[in-house]
Amino acid sequence: MKTRIFGGTVVTEQGVFRKDILIGDGRILKTAETIDENDPDAAGAEEINAAGKLILPGAVDIHTHMDLDVGIARAIDDFYSGTVAAACGGTTAIVDHMAFGPKGCSPWHQVKEYHRLADGNAVVDYGFHGVLQSADSAALDDMAEIARTEGITSFKVYMTYDGRLDDLELMRVLERAGKEHILICAHCENHGIVTFFREKFVREGKTETRWHPVSRPAEAEAEAVSRLLALARAAGEAPVYIVHLSSRRGLEEFRRAKKAGQEHIGAETCPQYLLLDEKLYNDPQEGLKAVMAPPLRRQADRDALWQALAENETDTVATDHCPFTFAGQKQQGAEDFTKCPSGAPGVEERLILLYSEGVVKGRITLPQMVKYACTNPARVAGLYPRKGTVETGADADLVLLDPEKEWTMTTGRLHGKADYTCYEGMKIRGAVERVILRGKTIVLNGNYIGTRGDGLYLRRGTSSLA
Ligand code: MN
Repeated sequence: MKTRIFGGTVVTEQGVFRKDILIGDGRILKTAETIDENDPDAAGAEEINAAGKLILPGAVDIHTHMDLDVGIARAIDDFYSGTVAAACGGTTAIVDHMAFGPKGCSPWHQVKEYHRLADGNAVVDYGFHGVLQSADSAALDDMAEIARTEGITSFKVYMTYDGRLDDLELMRVLERAGKEHILICAHCENHGIVTFFREKFVREGKTETRWHPVSRPAEAEAEAVSRLLALARAAGEAPVYIVHLSSRRGLEEFRRAKKAGQEHIGAETCPQYLLLDEKLYNDPQEGLKAVMAPPLRRQADRDALWQALAENETDTVATDHCPFTFAGQKQQGAEDFTKCPSGAPGVEERLILLYSEGVVKGRITLPQMVKYACTNPARVAGLYPRKGTVETGADADLVLLDPEKEWTMTTGRLHGKADYTCYEGMKIRGAVERVILRGKTIVLNGNYIGTRGDGLYLRRGTSSLA
């Protein structure tokens, strides 16, 4: 079955083009300024009139946490509801970050567990980042084997939390990752700084949410970013990717390494760090909604992160989607922020926020939006050019976006299971109208119309950073 999409405006990282698209067998067969109904290649094709619409590559979110078990709570979106939300927001592929497994387990443990959670449930294409919670030679051998056999070509390390790795362990990981062309994704916060403040504030009874950002200051992020980059350089310019960069100080450390010529490094930020302010924590109830790590920052941080995107200094915008219910799970932190499950929803909101707050407000261009939400995430994850672009041979993953529609962001219009959105009441320009996954329309007029299990497991190639 073929489909001819005509009359629309295609946006890629290269620019904005008046183009028609012919798709078949789940792939893009060709694009041209005009493919009319008399084109022999389009004989018998279904037709989609895209006049007045922007056509983007399906967006790629390489930082989600579906069904995440953090011990004190389990994220409310599983791989079905979370990927329905992703689809409705224009995201047609995710790469999910695994939870830690039981203490002492092999990296294989969570790979198997995540196939069990996702296979047959996901409705967009999906891959996994592995997780390393130790760095002994068996774990590193497993990492290499998982990359080869599962196409899991990136692994996450944490510089804080119980599953964190110390500098010696990070060196072992980075040296091996460099040799194997595996990307190491790092959660960068200094464990000593964060632990010191959390213990101190609990001791002093400072347990309202307003102490959460104070307990995880920008210095904690900046120090860990700087150290990670130094370790990577010492390990022979091992490939590293800084997830959820939140602060100007952290950004400055990344920028410094780039200016010094260090290669194989990348950085991601998220809509919450571009759009939301730490003042949200001043309300002890509302603040619970935004308890996440790293925490929300200040205007100067947001300005710096937007500027880095405008100047093409950072690589991607992902979500860190990790939703808990406000009425239930988040209330575990009502008396003590250190007991609040950490994370917030966002997988559905990302693309339209980048359009409405980024493109419409002149902070980034349309091609930059596509680069940060679609193309670069595909590159970093080793999915390009199958994903992230509108080109002959790519998967026919497409988003038709109405650039003019105006609406108000509210929980009731979203499809995830969380009972809140951090962007409640925000005036939005632009709407995701139709989403096509490998040639099949799975979202129409904002409604999900696909089938559970439509998503394919993605065996990924080598990261562009590796
Ligand atoms: Mn995360």
